Amino acid sequence: MAGLGPLARIARLGSNLCRNHRLIFNKSSQRRGIASCIDPAQGLTDEQKEFQKVAFDFAANEMAPHMAEWDQKEIFPVETMRKAAQLGFGGIYVQPDVGGSGLSRLDTSIIFEALSTGCVSTTAYISIHNMCAWMIDTFGNDEQREKFCPDLCSMEKFASYCLTEPGSGSDAASLLTSAQRKGDHYILNGSKAFISGGGDTDVYVVMCRTGGKGPKGISCLVVEKGTPGLSFGKKEKKVGWNSQPTRAVIFEDCAVPVSNRLGEEGQGFGIAMRGLNGGRINIASCSLGAAHASVQLARDHLLVRKQFGETLSNNQFLQFKLAEMATKLVASRLLVREAATALQEGRPDAVSLCSMAKLFVTDECFDICNQALQMHGGYGYLKDYAVQQFVRDIRVHQILEGTNEVMRMIISRNLLTES
Ligand SMILES: Cc1cc2nc3c(=O)[nH]c(=O)nc-3n(C[C@H](O)[C@H](O)[C@H](O)COP(=O)(O)OP(=O)(O)OC[C@H]3O[C@@H](n4cnc5c(N)ncnc54)[C@H](O)[C@@H]3O)c2cc1C
Repeated sequence: MAGLGPLARIARLGSNLCRNHRLIFNKSSQRRGIASCIDPAQGLTDEQKEFQKVAFDFAANEMAPHMAEWDQKEIFPVETMRKAAQLGFGGIYVQPDVGGSGLSRLDTSIIFEALSTGCVSTTAYISIHNMCAWMIDTFGNDEQREKFCPDLCSMEKFASYCLTEPGSGSDAASLLTSAQRKGDHYILNGSKAFISGGGDTDVYVVMCRTGGKGPKGISCLVVEKGTPGLSFGKKEKKVGWNSQPTRAVIFEDCAVPVSNRLGEEGQGFGIAMRGLNGGRINIASCSLGAAHASVQLARDHLLVRKQFGETLSNNQFLQFKLAEMATKLVASRLLVREAATALQEGRPDAVSLCSMAKLFVTDECFDICNQALQMHGGYGYLKDYAVQQFVRDIRVHQILEGTNEVMRMIISRNLLTES
């Protein structure tokens, strides 16, 4: 496989791994094709269609058959993620010289949307891992990039993003975890809350205070598992996102080499926010995948379920609801792709568009999935049917990577201050 470019590598491995392009969601799915008006391949280049198909195939064959079990048994599917990494999905927008696929933000969104149709929770973790790998690739020096990125891109090692603390969530710049410099080490004390992958991952990208109050006193350190003084809280019990663990990450006199600092002292908050701009597109893309799958599940159910002597698809109220869901899905996809393009091009509207995409898409896609559950009636509430898992898994997208209220703050600040 050596010598092949990232796209060729993805396509070659994908065609070996996955023969059938189909979405397996639940026992009653009719596995019909995709209506052209909601087809996520519309408007893409041939190359994008190629790796999108690989991602859809991987979702259908390697993830969807297990998504209910991973949820119910709370399994972190390490080997499946490593298989995804073989396709180039461990460092999608990381540069190729350190093992990444070197793809664009739009390409990344296309891949995460497709993967999420097979398991939102697992894909969302992969998206956080990608964000961390990108932060090290972008803000790390050569030594740091070479030390961490290859193992992250292959998912030999897994990463976590550590910003939130028990006392600082939306007001992230008020974080208290301290890093006091002693010689060639920082001594970390404090704790992080709600850390995705926490305890099961190897590399922790930690925002901590090396200076005074506010964002300018924050630095970014990479803390490796096994460092004395690093420990973890209990695994949280969650509504969704059950295929990935969430734990507190605790630092007690944890000595981290100064050489593990990304960027300069005081740049950590900016690095964290730069990571989150892409993270917000990625999370919105995961919501899109869930909504896309749910629209198809709802359509299939309406076509087969009979009440009052005819299929539900003959009922105009439900027809109109389905049309609204499809319209919201396509509008959401357009906004995500526009935000991804803006970020890729470094446009001045990128930060606001990423926030708009996260706000609009995670809200609308939650409504789509919830409506799809409603269309299934009582069956939608049963764990045999995938639609309930899509609802549970994407609910948290309205809360994390900046709540949707915080997204409104960012967008309105831009509207009111930029002239
Ligand atoms: C499953 C899960 C995984 C997570 N993974 C990670 C992770 O990997 N890394 C990480 O760092 N964090 C992670 N988080 C944390 C997440 O980012 C925070 O929960 C989120 O930022 C909100 O912070 P909070 O929970 O403290 O809520 P708070 O900040 O206490 O907010 C509570 C409510 O008040 C609203 N609110 C707060 N301030 C305002 C305001 N000024 N105006 C209007 N409304 C306001 C909020 O929008 C929210 O609705 C995760 C959370 C969950 C649930």
